[in-house]
Amino acid sequence: MAGFAPLPELDPDLLKKYDRAGPRYTSYPTAPAFHEGFGVADYSDALAGKKPVPFTESRSNVSLYFHIPFCDTLCYFCGCNMIVSNNRERIARYLDYLIREVHLNRSYLDDARALEQLHWGGGTPTHLSPEEIRTLGEAIHKSYSIDSDFEASCEVDPRELTEDHLRALFDVGFRRISLGLQDLNPSVQKAVNRIQSLELTKGVVDQARSIGFESVNIDLIYGLPRQTINSFAATLEQVLEMEPDRIALFNFAYLPEMFKHHSVIHPEEMPSASDKLQILIRSVQRIGYRGYRFIGMDHFARESDELAKAQDHGDLYRNFQGYSTKKGLDVIAHGITGISQVGRTYSQNAKNEKDYFAALDAGKLTVFRGYELSEDDVIRRYVITELMCHFFLSFNAFREVTGREFREYFAAELSESGPSSLQSMQEDGLLKIRDTGIEVMPVGRFLIRNIAMCFDAYLKRPDAKKGYSRTI
Ligand code: SF4
Repeated sequence: MAGFAPLPELDPDLLKKYDRAGPRYTSYPTAPAFHEGFGVADYSDALAGKKPVPFTESRSNVSLYFHIPFCDTLCYFCGCNMIVSNNRERIARYLDYLIREVHLNRSYLDDARALEQLHWGGGTPTHLSPEEIRTLGEAIHKSYSIDSDFEASCEVDPRELTEDHLRALFDVGFRRISLGLQDLNPSVQKAVNRIQSLELTKGVVDQARSIGFESVNIDLIYGLPRQTINSFAATLEQVLEMEPDRIALFNFAYLPEMFKHHSVIHPEEMPSASDKLQILIRSVQRIGYRGYRFIGMDHFARESDELAKAQDHGDLYRNFQGYSTKKGLDVIAHGITGISQVGRTYSQNAKNEKDYFAALDAGKLTVFRGYELSEDDVIRRYVITELMCHFFLSFNAFREVTGREFREYFAAELSESGPSSLQSMQEDGLLKIRDTGIEVMPVGRFLIRNIAMCFDAYLKRPDAKKGYSRTI
């Protein structure tokens, strides 16, 4: 049902009505539901295949995630789990433990499980030296047989990237890179402590293409300090000239109570709510006009890109790295704070180096908290994933997968009539509840988090956690 749909005219009043805090649904339930009653024994059972997902055939291949937390300097808007450090000994030690973790995790898995997907994120994976990139890449390749459909992507920071870094990434199998850019305006860059010229960024894009990388993504952020409607429009034109295969356009989540360094940003320099909305609306129109498909939450891709093809083939999925082309693979995370998704479980690694090193020194998995999904969680995750990836939920498919009638199972959600209910969203043109299923309308695609929230049982609990970013 996804296909290409022209991008809609966005009505500022409608967007304002639905602009509220909500999860990004890289998992369901989301991380605030994780608890420390879930530990190493649960995770090792999951790795051994003892916690399969109800209603789903498990896949043998795996996806590996590596969290490399180190960065050269601090960007004031950052919301990642990162450590500013240029202490090469500290970084080398972390790498050594990452490799130990590769071997430990591998020992829990059946030998037949091959590697089909690899992602390095951070922090800044390219804060590793080219030699360190090769060392980690080779350790992974020695531990796993590689599936013929293998794909690998890495986040890179153009500000400290050399051709040797790119060649090292290419040699260990990466074919996709994602560049942090955010904004090209010098005044905005100064306000967020991230100086990165167009020439530098373009040089990396050109170099990556000449080496043979198949897909280049560029990350942008709207809502940064000193951004104006015109300044961001200029940034966007320069980005479009580079013809990236994918563009991610994130909303800046200003959360000084959660991230201390956000308070360095002067609130009076932030764009007004209405300017921010205009930046979003104009950017979406412009990106669409240049032939990109809106994949879903924050992501645009060329029709030729794997993400668009996966959406056409019904293989698009969401995991902790965002949209993914590899539906149903277990994701095994390595490194501090990494979150694994294995069988019907989520497991999060130790939050700091001390605990992470101590667990690995003792030969133990580093999980400190997690979650085992109930049958109801799996059903709701299926609904949320279908809506976020394909903008359509088929009642027949729901019956085939879960053995239940959608209208009976979700009778309460369908009959609710509050301001954020499915009924009200239908009246506002965000979705249509048809005999065959729920169809998300073009404008609803931009409010897909709000639609997903209707099916989130945890948000309705009195102890529901706060601290989510806003949906617009
Ligand atoms: S490079 Fe990325 S992870 Fe590091 S501080 Fe900047 S935004 Fe955060």
